[in-house]
Amino acid sequence: MKPRIIVHGGAWSISDDLMKPHLNGVRKAAGLGLNILNSGGSALDAVEQAVSYMEDNPAFDAGVGSFLNEKGFVELDAMIVDGRTLKFGSVASVRRVRNPIRLARLVMERTEFHMFVSEGAERLAERFGLGLVDPSELIVEREVERWKNLRREGKRSSYIFSTVGAVAMDSNGDLAAATSTGGLPNKMVGRVGDSPLIGCGAYADNLVGAASATGHGESTMRVLLSKLAVDLIHSTGHPKSAAEVALKIMKERTGGLGGLILIDSAGRFGYAHTTRRMALAYSKGEKIVAFISEEDRQT
Ligand code: ASP
Repeated sequence: MKPRIIVHGGAWSISDDLMKPHLNGVRKAAGLGLNILNSGGSALDAVEQAVSYMEDNPAFDAGVGSFLNEKGFVELDAMIVDGRTLKFGSVASVRRVRNPIRLARLVMERTEFHMFVSEGAERLAERFGLGLVDPSELIVEREVERWKNLRREGKRSSYIFSTVGAVAMDSNGDLAAATSTGGLPNKMVGRVGDSPLIGCGAYADNLVGAASATGHGESTMRVLLSKLAVDLIHSTGHPKSAAEVALKIMKERTGGLGGLILIDSAGRFGYAHTTRRMALAYSKGEKIVAFISEEDRQT
């Protein structure tokens, strides 16, 4: 099996000035993941590395540069899923972890549990030697400005979906998916979105396919968007159609918008979004194709 990877850097009306950082970010993330796959690394290693890079890249709403909550600090959620075993690791509402996706992997592999939140998750980070950062290290000036503007306008939150995700297949044909986010701008303290919830923000099953989602978390949860898309691969005949139908169902049933990336068990890619734009990159042989997909080019 030839290894492959697809990554996303969120789906929203990415403004023209942010197109380049998004494009460069997803390209680099997919390239790092592909290098790992080409040197014999697993799909889990590849998605962890790709997402961890985007957490370190302040262009995205994950890790450093994440949106601030209503109290002006960052709360992060992340999840990784192993298509071989259906096991996953996830963390929610962490404030002092630089790379929540790395912590999610440790949860999956080093504990008998699947999900940890807030203080308990941060204790694990310390125990596993990931180290904790000062919460202020995750905050960038751009987000302080956005937060001040939202507070001034009295808006609860704005619908910008700049979550990151990756899906990969390695040379054994094993699938993995990962998603990481700072959630919605100006969200209430303690609000957790879909990203760390299994079947919502991501899903992976070697027998069918794997997916990572971005979009309105409360809508995504209600239709279990990633699991829905994976389940639709058989009946729709292609992961691209599965992504389109899953998002259509979400829009019709909840009004929510978002984006999806998929790889099926045959190694075929799929993506779709109901937002204006989506930042995407995937491997084509040894090359990386990166682009900002535009809504009107969607079928
Ligand atoms: N799904 C995320 C959330 O609701 C937001 C995003 O996709 O950017 O927390």
